[in-house]
Amino acid sequence: MSQECVFCKIIAGDIPATLLYEDEDVLAFNDISPQAPTHLLVIPRKHIAGPAALTDADQSLIGKLIKKGTELAAEVGLDDGYRLVMNNGEKAGQTVFHLHLHVLGGRVLTWPPG
Ligand code: AMP
Ligand code: ZN
Repeated sequence: MSQECVFCKIIAGDIPATLLYEDEDVLAFNDISPQAPTHLLVIPRKHIAGPAALTDADQSLIGKLIKKGTELAAEVGLDDGYRLVMNNGEKAGQTVFHLHLHVLGGRVLTWPPG
């Protein structure tokens, strides 16, 4: 747990979030500033600063994060396409330094991303 981390505060219940899923390893909730009709985040309970901070010991956790993202995408009806995104570093748009997987869908998503 990082004292200043907004996602650690959500995990601790100190900041409200619309929880969609939780288990002993991961949580999923709606993004507070959705960039698509469906925009949810899947995060590990463990505070990891971002993709580059993953260690070999986190391999099953990152697999679970992605698998859960795809399951939730199917559950909310994103069967005709969605995007899984992880931003790494400020230049890539990372603003919260607690690992998270964006699940975006419900509209046509252009490529390349901005
Ligand atoms: P990133 O820019 O990749 O670091 O993504 C961080 C995401 O967290 C952004 O899409 C924010 O809108 C979202 N976010 C920040 N604070 C909250 C919050 N309290 N509840 C839900 N989502 C949040
Ligand atoms: Zn954190």
